Order: sequence, then structure tokens, then C-alpha cells
Amino acid sequence: MNILIIYAHPEPKSFNSALKDLAVSELTSLGHQVKVSDLYAMNFKAVTDRDDFQLLQNENFFKYAVEQKHATKTSSFSPDIQEEQDKLLWADFVIFQFPIWWYSVPAILKGWFDRVFASGFIYSRGNRYDTGGLKGRKAMLSATTGSPKGAYTPYGMDGDMNEKILYPINHGMLYFAGFEPVEPFISWAPSHDEEDRKQYLDEYKKRLHNLEEIPSIPYHPTSHYDENHQLKMEYR
Ligand SMILES: Cc1cc2nc3c(=O)[nH]c(=O)nc-3n(C[C@H](O)[C@H](O)[C@H](O)COP(=O)(O)OP(=O)(O)OC[C@H]3O[C@@H](n4cnc5c(N)ncnc54)[C@H](O)[C@@H]3O)c2cc1C
Repeated sequence: MNILIIYAHPEPKSFNSALKDLAVSELTSLGHQVKVSDLYAMNFKAVTDRDDFQLLQNENFFKYAVEQKHATKTSSFSPDIQEEQDKLLWADFVIFQFPIWWYSVPAILKGWFDRVFASGFIYSRGNRYDTGGLKGRKAMLSATTGSPKGAYTPYGMDGDMNEKILYPINHGMLYFAGFEPVEPFISWAPSHDEEDRKQYLDEYKKRLHNLEEIPSIPYHPTSHYDENHQLKMEYR
């Protein structure tokens, strides 16, 4: 498979870096083609602005999504956006490696989504979720936390990891874009214990050897919703 790793951590000696390096070495040794977007090393620009486009459709009123659609039609994104979009089209499977920051992704990765997951390229009025632009590809989040696992259970202090913290990413970004998101890999509070870190690296290695077997997250296709975007009664 062609596997793209989007990696967002500023420190090469971090645990996130260790997980990323493990993925590169294991996947390569298994015969996969691997590319990495190391967002901090690339100094990836996280903020959206007019410089994201080589041509503007409307100079007088800058509307980001309209310009994204126009740039998709005219192939006029800035080169850094174009390169990331090309990598996405190349990939069969995308891994996102990042620490949970403020219940979400670090800003550099959020900016990557804002700029790369462009209107027209990823989605349009009739094409989103199961008909999104990246249909046919899988994606997996590999995240680390500061809080322990118990904090992210349904009654935990930080809120359920899958239903509250990762839902906006897995459903709102990845599934929206057409990806089939698979179960995430979480390293809980890796700063705390060397034994836990060893175990996470072992578990992640096993997971990397069975990428094709990881269960997908069972989201509803768009056909299960009615004209008011409500889940039809028979699927509730
Ligand atoms: C702005 C900000 C917001 C945050 N918000 C949240 C939040 O909302 N929720 C939450 O839970 N947490 C939050 N955190 C905490 C954050 O999620 C954790 O600090 C982070 O996930 C830990 O991962 P790391 O890679 O940075 O760990 P590091 O501290 O880099 O690494 C942990 C340990 O692993 C060691 N290590 C590195 N490589 C290896 C290896 N190969 N083998 C064994 N050990 C190794 C390192 O030396 C280090 O001792 C936040 C942090 C920041 C800075």
C-alpha cells in the first residue's frame, strides 16, 4: 500500500516521534511505500490567507471556500497545499500522528486540515462523507494524551475519547472527506511510565502489521439521513 503519515510534533526526541519512526521502519520493512509530512520540520503554514492561492476569483471579497473551489478548478493552489493534496491522492492509507492538545489536534495540524482539505477538492454540495473526494482510502489517528485512560471514559473528567474528543476529527474531517476512518490508536499519558511506553510501542508495532484488519468506525452513509439531515427512524 501507499501510506502517508501526517506527523505533528515539534520535538524529534518526543514519544510521538518514536511512534512515527516505528511506523516508518515497520511499514517500510513490510514492503509498503511510505511518505511522511513532518509538519513542524516543513514549517507548514497553519493560517489561511490570500497567499494560499496563485489566482483569486474575487479580489474584493475574500471568501476562503469560494477561492478553494476556484483553485481546484484552475489548479492554482499555493505549491505547499498542492503538494499535500497530491500526497493524499497518492495514498491508500493515511496515519495522523499527534499529541492531543486542548482536546483536539495541535494548531499546525488543524491548519493543515483547513488549507489542504479544500472545498472542491475534498467536498462539494453533493459529495461528502461516503461520497467525499478521498473515497476509497482509509485513515487512522495515532494520538497521545497527558491525561490517563480513565479520564477519557464516558463518565471520565475529560469526556469519552471516541464520542467527544475524536468524533470531530474522525467524523467531521476524515469521514466528511470520504475517508473510511479505522479505530484510533491511543498512547495514554506516555510521559508517566517507561513500562507503559514500551507496551505502547509493542502494541503499535502489532497494529502496524495488521493495518488491513483494523475495524472501521461504523458511521452512517448519507443515504441514512433524510432531507433535514436527520437520521431516518429505521436507523436509530
Ligand atoms: C498546548 C498543550 C495542550 C494540551 N492539551 C491536552 C489535552 O487537552 N488533553 C490531554 O490529555 N493532554 C493535553 N496535553 C498534554 C499532551 O497531550 C501530552 O504531553 C502529549 O500527548 C505527550 O506526548 P509527547 O510525545 O509530547 O510526550 P514526550 O513528553 O515527548 O515523551 C514522553 C516520554 O517518552 C520518552 N520517549 C521518547 N522516545 C521514546 C522511545 N523510543 N521509547 C521510550 N520512551 C521514549 C521521552 O523521553 C519522554 O520521557 C497538552 C499539552 C500541550 C503542550
